Amino acid sequence: MKEITLLGATGSIGTSSLQVLRLHQDEFHLHAAAACSSVDKMLAIAREFKPHRLAMFDKDSAKKLRQQCLDENLDCEVLEGEEGVIEIAGDGEAAQVIDAIVGAAGLKPVLAAVKTGCEIGLANKEALVMSGRLFFDEVKKYNAKVLPIDSEHSAIFQCLPGGLQRTLGFCDLEKYGVKNILLTGSGGPFRTTPLDELENVTAAQALAHPVWSMGPKITIDSSTMMNKGLEFIEASYLFNAPGETIKILIHPQSFIHSMVAFKDGAIMAQLGQPDMRTPIARALGYPERLESGVNLLDFVQAGQFSFVAPDFNRYPCLKLAIAASKMGQGATTTINAANEVAVEAFLKAQIGYMDISRVCAEVLEKTKHDNIYNLEEIFQADSVARECARKVIGNF
Ligand code: NDP
Ligand code: MG
Repeated sequence: MKEITLLGATGSIGTSSLQVLRLHQDEFHLHAAAACSSVDKMLAIAREFKPHRLAMFDKDSAKKLRQQCLDENLDCEVLEGEEGVIEIAGDGEAAQVIDAIVGAAGLKPVLAAVKTGCEIGLANKEALVMSGRLFFDEVKKYNAKVLPIDSEHSAIFQCLPGGLQRTLGFCDLEKYGVKNILLTGSGGPFRTTPLDELENVTAAQALAHPVWSMGPKITIDSSTMMNKGLEFIEASYLFNAPGETIKILIHPQSFIHSMVAFKDGAIMAQLGQPDMRTPIARALGYPERLESGVNLLDFVQAGQFSFVAPDFNRYPCLKLAIAASKMGQGATTTINAANEVAVEAFLKAQIGYMDISRVCAEVLEKTKHDNIYNLEEIFQADSVARECARKVIGNF
């Protein structure tokens, strides 16, 4: 029985992960799960999957959940607060810890998991964007193993030769003849919207993604292509890839999840339905292949595949994230934090859609970007950027 800990168990990736686990109850057991405040969903998880431990970031929610577990005689410890989430992530009982928490909140828990030397199923791209170098130094130090869940990075991982799959964070791409990483993206719901209409886009419009069904933050990020920008940074750390080797390609049908181009002219692609259960199953079962519940892609039904280069006037966030990637970890932490604050403000209708990129640009411009490395410096840069973003928003 392989013990799994699932951080962010009540979200979109968390729910898809549970769907895959449900298909393999003889092989996997959910050791522990964490969420922020979704008590009802956590109770349902406790009933069905019988985990040993649960943690809720929100302390009141933890108290409610603890009482309900007691009332139902569920033999399950409930921890609370950030410490509780970090404790279950790092208790060393799981063979694999999946980090599907959204945003910067996933960083400390996943680093605690890394220290146990387990497998890390990594969906939480923001953690890597903030700490890439430190994260992989820790992975090496504690002999942990990273299995990407972000669909593009899972695709790239699957296209890479075994020697590179085993050295994530330190890949020698040149040695294996890798010339380019082709990171694909759908282009989001506003790929063809006239540019002058973008200012007036509402949260409801931006939340309706044409292909993927995901949590609210990443859905907005997908529409601005900040998501692809964060993925660019994520890929640069995961595959030790210099910026100029990563090419971004818009592929609206989202059947090709990304590609790797080699120096002899060969290009490997990973294809499939746009369904996160496939990359989740790849991570959970690695090196074995698992049933995921996803049907095979029908090429005749899928029809035409098309590709177009991204237009930076339409997607200024993408341009900013690529620029931040070149500046280093101080800048990637900064843009990630500024974007989190801006997206939250946009969802609350405090700023307009195109203001998201304006906030990020202004925060990047107004803050200093030293080449930060340790956790303290990372969280310092994160909080400076958040404060600056709030001020910028206040002045709109
Ligand atoms: P959701 O918003 O759907 O879910 C977020 C999860 O994180 C919820 O379980 C939430 O709990 C939990 N959470 C939030 N804050 C905390 C905290 N402080 N401590 C513990 N748990 C917390 O997000 P998604 O599932 O869409 O995305 C999760 C991550 O995966 C993101 O980093 C995203 O970029 C990445 N990703 C997502 C994809 C997708 O298809 N959705 C694809 C590729 C990557 P609660 O329900 O209680 O609020
Ligand atoms: Mg992705």
